[in-house]
Amino acid sequence: MAIKGVNAFEMAQAQFDKVAAILDLDPATRELLRWPLREYSFAIPVRMDDGRVKIFRGFRVQHNDARGPSKGGIRFHPQETLDTVRALATWMTWKCAVVDIPLGGGKGGVICDPHHLSQREQEQICRGWVRQLARNVGPVADVPAPDVMTSGQHMLWMLDEFETIHGGHYPGFITGKPVGMGGSEGRTEATGYGVVFTIREALRELGIDVAQTRASVQGFGNVAQYAIRLYTQIGGKVTCVACWDQTDQAAYSFRREAGVDADQLVSISDRFGGIDKAKAKALGYEVLPGDSWLEQPVEILVPAALENQIRADNAPRIHAKVKVLAEGANGPTTPEADTILQEKGIFVIPDFLANAGGVTCSYFEQVQSNMNFFWEKDEVLARLDSKMTAAFHAVSELARKRKLFMRDAAYVIAINRVAQACRDRGWV
Ligand code: NAD
Repeated sequence: MAIKGVNAFEMAQAQFDKVAAILDLDPATRELLRWPLREYSFAIPVRMDDGRVKIFRGFRVQHNDARGPSKGGIRFHPQETLDTVRALATWMTWKCAVVDIPLGGGKGGVICDPHHLSQREQEQICRGWVRQLARNVGPVADVPAPDVMTSGQHMLWMLDEFETIHGGHYPGFITGKPVGMGGSEGRTEATGYGVVFTIREALRELGIDVAQTRASVQGFGNVAQYAIRLYTQIGGKVTCVACWDQTDQAAYSFRREAGVDADQLVSISDRFGGIDKAKAKALGYEVLPGDSWLEQPVEILVPAALENQIRADNAPRIHAKVKVLAEGANGPTTPEADTILQEKGIFVIPDFLANAGGVTCSYFEQVQSNMNFFWEKDEVLARLDSKMTAAFHAVSELARKRKLFMRDAAYVIAINRVAQACRDRGWV
């Protein structure tokens, strides 16, 4: 989504350019990887419940598929822009490569606000999106998934439309489906758990006992909730959570020194991850301004809401106690803020590594759907743990060896793999 003064795609390209220079990539490979391979921008006409026809704008960007079919979510947001979708598609390419799964990068979006749409209207948007793209997506081309403000239900409407058009069952077309309808056990937990697998490994490497740590989390949606649960299970304590209040159109932070109880907060949250302030106060939470989560005296920060949340203007306010910053959200930190984090000596687990659990489990879902054979939850989560742990150590080892910032090390690994696939295919 567009944020004044920050263009997510320019940020993604700037990050790429920096690493292309480290890798000394040739000009053709640079040009190829700086831009998406393909972009679709289209209209979705929908007859609304009141009888009027409204035209929604939809996007799909396939950044690079040299390593396998494009993979990436579809977001419903009123401020969605093509540049945001491009940036997120680019990050998906690096994310799939850094965890070494045989998929490329894609992303989609629709400019709309589900808060003001009925279920029927949302279904029409989903079906319209697939009608526009049915020949350009699919199990061997481009595999969508849910993302901000889209769910398993949206994916089933899309799957149904795709299967109606193509006349067969193609459960591998889309992931994030409900369990029992081609979905994978563990997908709901995967991104949040993946964040915590990487935090656990980072603490191990830094010689810090997880039981001695506290964390502050921005967001209380899917990623944040499961990250809070697993981190608490392995012995940590979350003392602050921030989320968006739909009624006030403002963010708030909820602090409780004794520790945040995810299940309790879920019971007083709306379906978009907004927490009821009055009920939270009654349960002993302090209600603070939206950006207070960033200033907490904790060892771990987990931005798990939106992009561009840690910037040059607020990064200096990060507490000196903070040792690890694990990016659950995509693109939460600007390049200027990165410099400040480096100066502060904070160990950053970059977004496309930290939150790669979702796409890794989506890959498992796609594999299971294509086989029509589904694994037990323990098996899925064990495979997820081993993929995330291996990816984390590959990146941190390179960072140590070449004295690179973690984000740069992750990029070096990912971009090298994609560039090599392009060379192997004879593209450059
Ligand atoms: P979600 O819609 O379930 O939750 C978003 C949360 O962020 C909500 O609690 C909302 O209240 C909060 N929020 C929104 N604006 C805020 C603000 N200004 N300040 C504080 N809180 C705010 O979304 P999600 O699925 O948890 O995704 C969160 C982030 O993680 C996004 O950047 C998404 O792209 C990324 N991500 C998600 C997945 C996944 O599997 N869900 C995978 C990879 C990356």
